[in-house]
Amino acid sequence: MKEMVITRFAPSPTGNLHIGGCRTLLYNWLFAKKYNGKLILRIEDTDLKRSTDAALQNILEGIKWLGLNWDDEIAYQSDNIHRHREIAFQLLKEGKAYKCYCTEEELIKMREEAIKKKKSSFYNNKWRDREPSEQDKNIKPVIRIKTPQGGKTEINDIVQGAVHFENEDLDDFIILRSDESPTYLLASAVDDHDMGITHIIRGDDHLNNAARQHHIFKAMSWKIPEYTHIPLIHSSDGTKLSKRDGALSISDYKSEGFLSKAILNYLLRLGWSYGDKEYFSEDEMIKYFDVKNIHKSPARLDNKKLLSINSYYLNAESEDTIIELISQSKGVGIPIENQEKIKLILEHVKTKSKTLNELIELIEYLLMEYPPIIDSDMMEVLNSEKIKLLEYFHRDLSSVKDWSIQEITHLFEKFTNDQNIKLIDIAKPLRVALTGRIVPTGIYELIYALGKEDTLTRISQHLYK
Ligand code: GLU
Repeated sequence: MKEMVITRFAPSPTGNLHIGGCRTLLYNWLFAKKYNGKLILRIEDTDLKRSTDAALQNILEGIKWLGLNWDDEIAYQSDNIHRHREIAFQLLKEGKAYKCYCTEEELIKMREEAIKKKKSSFYNNKWRDREPSEQDKNIKPVIRIKTPQGGKTEINDIVQGAVHFENEDLDDFIILRSDESPTYLLASAVDDHDMGITHIIRGDDHLNNAARQHHIFKAMSWKIPEYTHIPLIHSSDGTKLSKRDGALSISDYKSEGFLSKAILNYLLRLGWSYGDKEYFSEDEMIKYFDVKNIHKSPARLDNKKLLSINSYYLNAESEDTIIELISQSKGVGIPIENQEKIKLILEHVKTKSKTLNELIELIEYLLMEYPPIIDSDMMEVLNSEKIKLLEYFHRDLSSVKDWSIQEITHLFEKFTNDQNIKLIDIAKPLRVALTGRIVPTGIYELIYALGKEDTLTRISQHLYK
């Protein structure tokens, strides 16, 4: 029987969960699901100075919001520090690692030397071949692993193919700092082994680390996991992604009114495709996803595309789901009576909104506590001339018998004719009187959903003052 697939998502809680991390998570999740395997969530929190609880919460909430899940308990890397140390000392004992007593000044010099010679590694192996008994009592040493001095290291990567690294460039890197804290390179490799990770799927900014970690696996005679290094996400102009490209953390996308389904679909196809297929259900994602089809070149973030996918999913959602989403977004329950009103114009406003926030803006007046508070800069719309028009409109609306879009349309046609005005002349003050601002909701639908009684009451608030 083949071994069980075990993948992992290993964020460092030093910042919010960002869009690139979400794609890595999604690919790991899909791969594990596809092969009935497991996905481990490992929080890489060994950098105690930079790890924060707020970042951790942001990551966990982001994963939950995306509707993705992990198997087993969350693994906190800091719980395994004793194990990382144990491995470092074992390598030391076996002569595969050594203590290095270099001072800060010596290291700075080595770095300067390396820059001059245009070398990518800098450590000059000063302590590599010393007798273990030799030491500098004034310095707390770090532990460095011995990497091969000549030749190349080959990493077989599913996306990148066979990638070769000159061993000379890898350096005898540090695995244990002088305070005995493990470095990322050691901690992550040890945990990957101990957790039985079979497949590592992560951003290709870690490809260099794979070459280094390879030597930890080799020194310990551990089986090397299968690697899939995904090209990073770039901004729309092909440069490195930055805050200027809009929202980057998943919590921002959420608060801007994106739907998790849309984000997942967008991320799925950002760097992977299945023919021309545009939209994938969860089952289809799992069925068709194949790491072999991950693109080799960096993906470009395209906010327009994301908006159009979001609008597709928003339009496809059922009335009840949208009401639930509105309620979650506002953080309040919506009374049944208001839900019914929203349902009357949902079809109409859905097609006009690309995000949930845009949709909420169009229906917010139906959620408002009566009477709506008029934005101060809107008060001038309600001048005495317009109030007079509202008064006539109130009178005509009172005599409407059937409540339908057709009847309302008819009312407006007759009213504008009688008053010899354009639709906007009455629609604008009505919008302000009914909603407190100028929402772009069609005026007929706006009134229709509000209902005759509420419309009359809201208008009368502004009359006879
Ligand atoms: N903790 C690393 C990061 O957040 C991920 C390391 C890995 O996937 O090996 O970039």
